[in-house]
Amino acid sequence: QVALDRRDEMDVEGWKVGDPVPYAALANAFALIEATTKRIEKTSLLTSLMLLVIQRRKAGDTDSLLKTVYLCINRLCPDYTGIELGIGESLLIKAIGESTGRSLQLIKADLKKEGDLGLVAMNSKNMQKTLFKPKPLTVPFVFSNLKEIALSAGHSSQGKKVSIVTKLLAACKGEEAKYIVRSLEGKLRIGNAERTVLVGLAHAAVLAEQERSGKKWSTEKLASRLEEGASIVKSVYSELPNYDAVVPALLIVGVNKLREECKLTPGVPLKPMLAKPTKAIGEVLDRFEGKRFTCEYKYDGERAQVHKLADGTVGVFSRNSEDMSKKYPDLVEQLPHCIKENTKSFVLDAEAVAIDRATGKLMPFQELSKRKRKDVKVEDIQVRVCLFAFDLLYLNGEPQLHRNLTERRELLRQHFEPVDFEFQFAKSSDCENTEDIQAFLDESVKDGCEGLMVKMLESEASYYEPSRRSVNWLKLKKDYLAGVGDSLDLVVVGGYYGKGKRTNVYGAFLLACYDADSEEYQTICKIGTGFSEEALAAHYTALQPLETDKARGDVKVGGAKPDVWFEPKVVWEVLTADLSLSPVYTAAQGLIEERGVSLRFPRFLRVRDDKGADDATGPDQVAEMYERQVLAQGGGQKKKKGD
Ligand code: ATP
Repeated sequence: QVALDRRDEMDVEGWKVGDPVPYAALANAFALIEATTKRIEKTSLLTSLMLLVIQRRKAGDTDSLLKTVYLCINRLCPDYTGIELGIGESLLIKAIGESTGRSLQLIKADLKKEGDLGLVAMNSKNMQKTLFKPKPLTVPFVFSNLKEIALSAGHSSQGKKVSIVTKLLAACKGEEAKYIVRSLEGKLRIGNAERTVLVGLAHAAVLAEQERSGKKWSTEKLASRLEEGASIVKSVYSELPNYDAVVPALLIVGVNKLREECKLTPGVPLKPMLAKPTKAIGEVLDRFEGKRFTCEYKYDGERAQVHKLADGTVGVFSRNSEDMSKKYPDLVEQLPHCIKENTKSFVLDAEAVAIDRATGKLMPFQELSKRKRKDVKVEDIQVRVCLFAFDLLYLNGEPQLHRNLTERRELLRQHFEPVDFEFQFAKSSDCENTEDIQAFLDESVKDGCEGLMVKMLESEASYYEPSRRSVNWLKLKKDYLAGVGDSLDLVVVGGYYGKGKRTNVYGAFLLACYDADSEEYQTICKIGTGFSEEALAAHYTALQPLETDKARGDVKVGGAKPDVWFEPKVVWEVLTADLSLSPVYTAAQGLIEERGVSLRFPRFLRVRDDKGADDATGPDQVAEMYERQVLAQGGGQKKKKGD
């Protein structure tokens, strides 16, 4: 209870019930959150902030909490709407100059020294003598201005953006400028993972309910209510990742009725279920022993979540909930051909795969990655896609997540119809023994797939688990079996200039995994062999605009210092021969032992355009891979020499 209540530390003088939320309260909370690395403390700080907002709101107001939540995760709308914060550094420098009267040179020099424009803005503001007292910033005011900036597009919008930022900065006090500028840059850098915000939101709702009831709950009751509330809010949000729906419902119907109120809804993409890697067929049988399971082809394309609303609207969403309808107009056009008459609304989980229509052969993912992301015209498309559906998450007004896979698959087959080269059910075989799995795996590879996905068929274990990397889905890739090791998705955080012919490009790169809990990038290896001249030139073009002088605050530095740092954005899929403990790299530090884990002989496979930096492999997966390797080697070589 003591640790829970931090309201006094962030409260703002004069903030009365019914007033708009002062932005200063958020800035106070952000500063406290930034100052601690303890997740539990971050949670209680967020809880306290949201509890204050709930208690000070006007009766019936849901907007103040909604906007507070959005600002805490630095978003303005659900991410699938594509409206994002992220304004260029030079515009921000200009606005800081205009609002503080400092020269651009001085601001740039400070930036070089500090590596954080937010801090530079705050210090610049605090150096300035203000003659008049600006009107305090409020959450609705900041929110609507940020939204205006995010929505204004085109070259002529630059002046407008600068003038809005200048206006906001002029009104900043204390640490506000730091957070406003970081918000505008696209990342708050306070280690505020979305999961923590969800838990804070749930806890605040439970505590508000307790205070309203006027009863004092026992410590045990309170603890169990908090835990239950957090689990409800997290699971509801994973089905319906839309705060516009979840936050008002939470305030109106309360935590306990939230599940009935907020369910999966076509048009709102959910984060897909993911699989755990397995290294050998025997491992599949060990994990699924005695249970019914199915093997499906693991197609080598792009994940596509296809939504059809009852009004006929169709949406195709990526693994990251990006709207891909403009990238796949052919898919949208083909879709009606495979829908049976009894199918009104649905959400399909599927893989879009490039297909050669002359031969029916499947083509690798690289074919799809050549497509533009937007404004693709059907008549210009060279290589068409075929949709391979493997799951049905919603049908005719009802979510299907809590049915077992056998039933979901049955419904899928009853409501859709295969169409040559356009729509197919993922090829499957309900294998039972090693020989059958091996034969099906070989067949999948022959047919141009990456391997198999093995899935539980029965019981609750086979329910669809949005946003989870679940043990009930296993992936068996041919690469793993070849003994070359698992592949990882890593973020490129640094570059080393090349030598000889390669001095104009980067010749090697520093890669990192991403820890969603601490929101930090942990370095894992340097990679520099096996790139062609063309590949290096292409990487240079993609990475050069992301260059920074200093490592960003959320990069846990380790390994040879690169010549340049990058904004963590670009994700590469990398293979490794081996993982080893390392005294210098920071990946998974503390998970196996104090030392981190690094990759030996990493090999670049491909750029993962479909993944954001937040989707990169996590330290827990890295540790798991390392431990599996130790087991496979007989457990005797745990302490390897680091590189
Ligand atoms: P990868 O890097 O192997 O694509 P990932 O991290 O994107 O992995 P995983 O859960 O590890 O996701 O692997 C599952 C991916 O494989 C899905 O995201 C999907 O795009 C693809 N896939 C292809 N065929 C299937 C299938 N039959 N069932 C589920 N996913 C499939």
